[in-house]
Parts: sequence; structure tokens; C-alpha cells
Amino acid sequence: MAAPVATSCPYCGVGCGVLAAPDGSGGASVRGDPAHPANAGRLCSKGSALGETLGLEERLLHPEIGGARATWPEALDLVAGRFSETIRDHGPDSVAFYVSGQLLTEDYYVANKLMKGFIGSANIDTNSRLCMSSSVAGHRRAFGADTVPGTYEDIEQADLVVLVGSNLAWCHPVLHQRLAAAKAARPTLRVILIDPRRTATAELADAHLALAPGSDVALFAGLLSWIAREGAIDQAYVSAHVTGLDAALTAASALSLDDIADATGLAQADLAAFYAEWTRTACVVTLWSQGVNQSACGTDKVNAIINCHLAAGRIGRPGMGPFSVTGQPNAMGGREVGGLANMLAAHLDIENPEHRARAQAFWVSPAIAQRPGLKAVDMFRAVGDGRLKALWIVATNPVVSLPEADAVRAALTACPFVVVSEISARADTGRFADVRLPALAWGEKEGTVTNSDRTISRQRAFLAPPGEARADWAILCDVAARMGWRDAFAHASAAAIFREHAALSGVAARDFDISAWADCSDADYAAMRPFRWPAPACGATRARFFSEGGFFTDDGRARAVPTSYRRARPAARPFILNTGRVRDHWHTMTRTGLSPRLSAHVAEPFVEIHPDDAAALGVRPADLVAVRSDTGAALLRALVTDRGPRGALFAPMHWTAETCPAARIGALIAAETDPASGQPALKSAAVSAGRFAAAWHGLAVSRARPEPPACAYWALARRRAGWSVELAGQSAPADWTAFARALVGAAPEAEPLAYRDAATGAFRAAFLDAEGRLLGAFFAGPAPVPASRAWLAAALSQAAPDRAALLAGRGPGATIDPGPIVCACFDVGLNVIARAVAEQGLADLDAIGAALQAGTNCGSCRPELARLLDARAQDAASRSAA
Ligand code: SF4
Repeated sequence: MAAPVATSCPYCGVGCGVLAAPDGSGGASVRGDPAHPANAGRLCSKGSALGETLGLEERLLHPEIGGARATWPEALDLVAGRFSETIRDHGPDSVAFYVSGQLLTEDYYVANKLMKGFIGSANIDTNSRLCMSSSVAGHRRAFGADTVPGTYEDIEQADLVVLVGSNLAWCHPVLHQRLAAAKAARPTLRVILIDPRRTATAELADAHLALAPGSDVALFAGLLSWIAREGAIDQAYVSAHVTGLDAALTAASALSLDDIADATGLAQADLAAFYAEWTRTACVVTLWSQGVNQSACGTDKVNAIINCHLAAGRIGRPGMGPFSVTGQPNAMGGREVGGLANMLAAHLDIENPEHRARAQAFWVSPAIAQRPGLKAVDMFRAVGDGRLKALWIVATNPVVSLPEADAVRAALTACPFVVVSEISARADTGRFADVRLPALAWGEKEGTVTNSDRTISRQRAFLAPPGEARADWAILCDVAARMGWRDAFAHASAAAIFREHAALSGVAARDFDISAWADCSDADYAAMRPFRWPAPACGATRARFFSEGGFFTDDGRARAVPTSYRRARPAARPFILNTGRVRDHWHTMTRTGLSPRLSAHVAEPFVEIHPDDAAALGVRPADLVAVRSDTGAALLRALVTDRGPRGALFAPMHWTAETCPAARIGALIAAETDPASGQPALKSAAVSAGRFAAAWHGLAVSRARPEPPACAYWALARRRAGWSVELAGQSAPADWTAFARALVGAAPEAEPLAYRDAATGAFRAAFLDAEGRLLGAFFAGPAPVPASRAWLAAALSQAAPDRAALLAGRGPGATIDPGPIVCACFDVGLNVIARAVAEQGLADLDAIGAALQAGTNCGSCRPELARLLDARAQDAASRSAA
């Protein structure tokens, strides 16, 4: 095993350091980097399983034109030629790039420079628009620049951490672990969760305010009024550094406590307790994430929070401040290079002529975009109505992730020229490409990323480039050269691009300044340790911004922004669908879906529905639910739970046409956006729901990847020795045995063990090879199949599985069905934990860890273990009360 390479995790915005030790045959073992400031050696379940995602079986390895293999020169000539022709015939605004927070900063920098400085359009936007652009807009309105004032250490140093619209436990797990560790060491550190759902993060919280969806502006307007009423405004700070507070207070005072209670659905006593605690606690961090950003009023929510911190002067000092955490690994890097259509590089403002001139002079470019370009949703509308005639999509999967995803598909089908740069041959968007270009993946590419607290880290290659895959920056440079700008894009390496990026940041003279790196050598770049910006050439670094003012507005003062709460229009459909992530999957699963371990936690898409709503609709646990909106429809497995309120549904957004075509959540969501940020309201789709009356339900496990059958519903998941697939249909196949054989890929000579129960309508079949090993098994019946998924999946790797047990669908004798995997590191299922807790009287997390190892490695499952213990304690309490 070679020496480990220090790199960083490619998933969330925490930006953990990773030590990857290549095994010499294309794989690597992975552990947390103890020297990285973001994680100090910790990793969550996704980071721990990175080694399982390095295989090449689903990789795009060669350029393709029209679905046929092509050479790189053919593909690059075609891309450059079509973009040049389109610009010549229809102008620079007829083309666009749609890029990604997965890109490294160097890739992002080149894409932005090409579009804004050479093509002369600002039609480059990023999937970070879907993630945190409301925070960018809120920062710019308040601070004059997109500055995150604080650091991760503030979260540990605070006396009160308020988490707003953030399921930190699942979406930023290592930050959650840091907060949990700080709270364990200093129990007076209080945590308040503000979220309509009782997520896994609630286990850490001292209080959970389950506010009505979309009412955050009212909640924080009330806090601002409370701060003023209690005399807690920091007059010295405000008079020296803040403008507009009177107007913000006037707007906030339009809401009485009664109004706020009505808007949020919270009791006045709970509101008062929250307001009083926030107001009396000097060291308070208010941290938010997608629950705030992904809203039609996301920017106002951000400013409503920032207003409170400005008014109380709680910003830029240890343990206090407003804190946006980003979803993607390099959303911040994208913001720094101008990856958003309404920004220039180095935090320069595109609306500012002097800023545009600075960027153009630095690039010595023939053009500079004169106005903001099309933001993501508008960009795909422009593709659909023909204004955009050539589109290059890089490292993102918009036909899954954008709202009105079916309309996005139609737009790409109609677009005259679509280029897709990808690592995965199975990404849905690739189906719509005229040209597919194979890109390097994590572990193969070199560059930098910036995490949520402004720490810049290296991603380093530890694997050889596979096939003909190339770095995104190199592909972009080659196209730019063919379009006539060879000299400006003669970048020889990622290090050379980083030097130019750093030099521009010095010329820009904004908050983002890393000019200390402008003259770094290749060796310096290779050896770079994580550092937090700013890092100016003059050496005047600082950890935090704004404790002494110094905002990036014309007068150097912050702006308190008046916000007004607007009640959501009554929806024409009875449910509000909230969307989000599950613990162990990332975005559209093109990487985490490769890992059996990560697929075991949640193996199938689902919809959370309140028990009262389920009862009213006649929906039972594990039924399929048909969810419909004005823009699309989905079928989802019912998870009946009171985690959310009545009238609200929740569904994860990860599944695709490749993994569960009936569960593409983006298709359900209308493309309503925040007017300031352009961020779509991905958390509030108006939908109706009803029980799906399937004629049959099925389950299969197989060693070969199952062939998707023609039926209403199928959901595929990777297992250690193969696959599992859940199915349902409205008409039964004429020949179940033939259906099962085709599904699991069993050869004609493989004789099935089969059983049919005419009374119940159940059918079961198992196919074995000549040595008696299981090729695949299939179960069908009129109700969801009650077999043990975990045992059947494990049987795929057994030398001679018990044949009777195979047909029974569960292990022989008293074998316990492990149930859904809770601890991914040690493969411990929910049923195993529940039984051990009951039978051994395990009372806390340490006892579970000692008995089962669960929760003792990455710690990502500890909130779920805590929830299980809580539920058991509540059961016991209610039994003894009865
Ligand atoms: Fe990766 Fe997990 Fe760290 Fe996020 S918290 S960067 S997903 S290891």
C-alpha cells in the first residue's frame, strides 16, 4: 500500500480532510486526516465509504458524439465549432454553461473566464444556485460582498447555537459531531433547532421549534423587535457600522407576537422563551442551510437573521455570528470565481462598471459580460423556448435536480446542441447530449476547494486517469483555444490557474483576497496545507470579518434590510411537499449509489406522511403513495411518521431514471424562485397524495444488475454481492417465472426453485447456478413483500444458501432480520439494535457501542441511535403511567 495522500472529501460543504492510500489496483483505503482543521480526523458515513465509490464500472471513459465513440480532437473541434457558429449567428447570449459545486476551483475559474471574459456573456450558472444562492444574495445585500463572517470554531465556542432549516446531523455530519462533542464537554452550550420536521438533529437540541414551513421571516422579525424592546441593541456598533436599522425595525414591528404565533404555528410562550434566550446570550451563532435558502423568500429569511446579529453587534467575534453552511464541497469556491451568473470573479460585482473594467484589464480580454446572465431556472426556460441554442453542462445532473424536471428534459431534447462533461455513463442528463466528454473524478484530479468557513484545501490525485478521461479545466482550455483564444487559455497546470486566480483576487481588492498565493511555485501548490481566506500578499490575515465593521459597501457600513413576512398563497392541493437528503446518499447518487454500505441505510425512495393523514387516505406503512403536483407525478413508499406536521410530506431527492424512474422528485416541484437570488423553492411543492392501488408488489435480489422491467414502479439498490430491486405493477405478468428469470438475468438452463400459493396469490422463485449458489430470487404478491431484504442480499454471497429459507425469504430458524442498516460502518440493522436494547437493557449510546459496535466509528448513526433510545424510554414511561 502506497503512502497516503492528503486530499479532501468531495461531498458536503464541511470540507473534511481525507487521507487516501491507494492499493495499487485502482482502489484506496480512506480515513480522516487528523491534521485537517475542518474534521481533525473525523469522517461521516459518506466520507468513510469513499473507497467503495472508486470502481470504473459506470464510468464514462471515452468522448462520444451522437452516442458513438469519438476521438478527443473530433469532440473538441465539434464543441468549439458549434459554440463559435452559434455565437456568430445569434450573439454571445445564445450560448450558456451550466456548471457545478462539484467542480474544483481551477475548473470553475476557467469556465467563468471563458464565458464572461471571452465569449462576453454571463450565461454561466451553477447548481449551487439550487443550494445557497439566497445566502449569497443576503450576504451581498447586508455586507456588500458574499462574506461568511465566522468560522467553525465559533460553533464550538458559542453558548447558544440556533440551527435554522438545517438537518446538520445528516447533511453536515462532521460539523454536527463537532457541535455534539462541544456540548458534551460543556453541557451549558445550548442548541435550539428551528425546523418544521423533527429531524435526526433534534436529538442534540435542547429545544425544537417546529415552525410552519416558510414562516422564518416572521420568526426573526419578531426576534429583531424583541431585541429592540429589551434594550439589547448594541448602539455603539450600530451607530458606527450599520445603516437601515430603523427601517428594518419598522418593518419588523408590523407583526405582533400574536401575528407571529399565528404565522409560525408556535405558542407565544415558546416564542418568548426563544427570543429571551437569544437576546440574553451574547455568544450566539445562528446557523442555517437549505431550509432557509430553498424558498421563494430565502433571501429575506437570510437578511431577517443577519439583521438580528447586526442589531445586537454579535458578529465577527469568537462564538457569535450568522453562519450559512453550504451544501456542496466547492460551492464557496464557485462563489469566489464568479460561477454564479450574477457575479464576477474574485467577488467583483458584475453590475459595477469599474469592477468589470478591473476584471477585463486583468484578463486582457476582448469582451466582458455587461449584465448578469441567466440564473439556473431561467437558463433552462431559455433552452426550452429557443433563446439558448448551445448548452454545455459540466458535472451536474439537471434533468434530476432542477424543478420542473420533466420540462428540463423536454428543453434539452429540443436544444440544437448539448454538451455534457461527466464522470458517469449512467447520469440521466447524458442521455440528452449531442457530445459527452469524460471527466476526471475524485481521486484522479488536482485542484482546490473552499469549505463553508472559507478554508481552502487541496484535492490531490492518488489514482491514474482512467480511459481517456481528462481534467475539466483542460477540456475547457482546449475548447477556448479552438475558439481563437489559445494564448489566454494556455494554462499548463492546475497550479498555474490557481496562481492566476490568486493574482486576480489581489487586483480585485475585495474581501476575497488570496494574493499571497499569486507567486506560489508548483512545489508550494503541491504542498499546500489548508488555509482560511483572506490571505493577502501583505500578510494581514484574520480569522473573522466585521467585528470592527469594514463592510464592503460604498460607505463601509452594513445594511439592515427591511423584510416583510408574506403568508403563502393557499395551495390548490392539500399537501406541502418538503424535499431534502438522506444521511448516506449524495445528490443524484452517481457516486454514493455505487456503495453497498451507503445504499443499505435507505435503499428505496420514500415519502414521510403523518399518521392522521395516512389514516385519512387509507395509506398503511410500506404502501406506495401516488404524489401528484401541477408539474409531475411520483410513486413513493409510505413512511408513516409524526416527524412532520399534518398536511406536510417529506421526500428525498436522490433517485433518478436509472435508480427509480417513478421517484424523480424534481418533476413534482414548480419552478418558483426567490426574486432576489433566483433560488428555486425546492422545499414547498403543493401536491396531492393517495394510496396507489398496485395489483402486485415484488422484490428481487440478484447477482447481475437487474434488467428494468415494464411495470409501474421499480427501485434499484446496490448490495454487497449484487443488487436488490423493489417493484410494483398494475397488471400481473402472464408468466411469473419468465418475468423473474429475465429480471434477475438467470440463464435458460438455470432451473428455478418456485412456489405459487393460489390462495394468497403469492409467487416465489430462486435461481441457482450449477454449484448451488444463488443467482437471484424473486417474490411477488398482492401486498408489499415481507421478506428479509438483508438476509436475501447476504444469501447472494453464500456458497450454498438454505433452499427452504430462500423460498421463505428469511434466514433459517430464529435468525433475526437485521432490518434497515442504521450503522453503515459495522452493518448493524435497526432490528438487531432494537432487540439488543430490549433484551440487554442498553440504556445509552456507549452501551450500544460496547454491545454492537454501532456508532463507534464515524458516528453518523448516533442521532438515530439516540432517537431509538428516546422512543423506547417514552414507551416505557407511557406503559408505567398506564
Ligand atoms: Fe465528507 Fe461527511 Fe465531511 Fe461532509 S461531513 S465533507 S460528507 S466526510
